[in-house]
Amino acid sequence: MSDKEQDKTANKDEQWREELDPEQYHVLREKGTERAFTGKYWDLKDDGTYHCAACGEPLFSSETKYDSGSGWPSFYAPADKDSVGELADHSHGMVRTEVVCQNCGSHLGHVFPDGPQDKTGLRYCINSASLDFKKEDSQE
Ligand code: FE
Repeated sequence: MSDKEQDKTANKDEQWREELDPEQYHVLREKGTERAFTGKYWDLKDDGTYHCAACGEPLFSSETKYDSGSGWPSFYAPADKDSVGELADHSHGMVRTEVVCQNCGSHLGHVFPDGPQDKTGLRYCINSASLDFKKEDSQE
């Protein structure tokens, strides 16, 4: 990474520290996990789109949200297959697949193969803190 690119990343980090609240920063930028049943969206059933809380990219639609019983917002598919990226995660003695915002690289959660069988069979287990919900009728 060049000095210039390093500066850019440092500036971006500074900006995120200012714009995000401490929990959002911890989850998005330090790969934290909110406690189950404490986030603002796990039980939300409104129609709309869930955007990346760090960069605003649309990530998940309420159309694929379902009640997984986990206490985290759960989706069986991303809004667009290119909107989220997947990375191997070997932390905490587990082998998991981390899900990140493809646009800004922020941590969102994990994807597990125990989702609804009549859909994709996938469970995108996402932190509320990583998301910014926009209601359907307020999207213009
Ligand atoms: Fe993002």
